[in-house]
Amino acid sequence: MMKALVKKNPTEGIWLEEVPIPQINSNEVLIKIRKTSICGTDVHIYKWDAWAQKNVPLPLVIGHEFVGEIVEIGSNVQNLKVGQRVSAEGHITCGHCKACKMGKKHLCFNVRGFGYHLPGCFAEYAKLPAENIFILPESVSDDLAAIFDPFGNAVHTALTYNLTGEDVLITGAGPIGIMAAAIAQKAGARHIFITDINPFRLELAKKMGATCAVNMTEESLTAKMQEKGILDGFTVGMEMSGNPAGLNTLLQSMQYGGNVALLGILPPHTQIDWDLVIFRMLTLKGIYGREIFSTWFKMTSLLDVGLNLEPLITHHFPMQEYQEAFATMISTHSGKIILNWE
Ligand SMILES: [Zn+2]
Repeated sequence: MMKALVKKNPTEGIWLEEVPIPQINSNEVLIKIRKTSICGTDVHIYKWDAWAQKNVPLPLVIGHEFVGEIVEIGSNVQNLKVGQRVSAEGHITCGHCKACKMGKKHLCFNVRGFGYHLPGCFAEYAKLPAENIFILPESVSDDLAAIFDPFGNAVHTALTYNLTGEDVLITGAGPIGIMAAAIAQKAGARHIFITDINPFRLELAKKMGATCAVNMTEESLTAKMQEKGILDGFTVGMEMSGNPAGLNTLLQSMQYGGNVALLGILPPHTQIDWDLVIFRMLTLKGIYGREIFSTWFKMTSLLDVGLNLEPLITHHFPMQEYQEAFATMISTHSGKIILNWE
């Protein structure tokens, strides 16, 4: 048996339970979890909102951001060894749909999510298909390895369009938006604006690479753009807030011919002014997850060339203090929060 954080009841909360250690099949590996990180998705599951109710089977061990060590491998698994330090791609792809056959696993039609469709990593042990495992270079710390999943979302979104010399607007200063600002700085963007209503996270974004952090409850984005000399609008936009107001602000602030990447999950039937898209000839692209595994290799390369994500990790808790960890995450007075399982 092992300790695990289980979504047990269809109400707000998460519960520490004793559950059986997962049994692996011939194509899977068993991982002893060292550290995990709490995602916005975990908060949706904790709060048991409409998305969670629709997607998450009960009971379920949740969590998908982790670093750990392989302790057992299936009989068909080659090229992996007990003792390797790993994280993993949490999108479990089918391997037989058209997208998978074409080598575009991130577009799999039958994707299932580790920690929200299938048992996850907020536990002493977790299992995954061997093909999902990412072996970590020694240069990557355990803390950073534990946030590779959301870092991948940020890299996938930020590097969708060329950023060198561009003027970038990021709407939403959650951890992924903040990481996108850091990546944009590393990629040589000129102006990197980020908007939010959370002063703590806007400060963090400034510390990590945003050149201008705009608190939308107190300041006018248009006035800030004038002040910084952005007279024609932004050339690259990243929607990270999942908030209709954020998306509309972004579209209104784009230059003609600008490129927009959409990562934030917007409510159904969100309205936009389509004239902005059509007459300004904007390009919009939806982003989900990571490219498997090109985004992962890009992440390690970015760390190798000095991308510094350390300031984003603001809290560590032993797993026993998971209630406090979730409360801190829900307060949004945090960056990324690490739970220690050892
Ligand atoms: Zn597939």
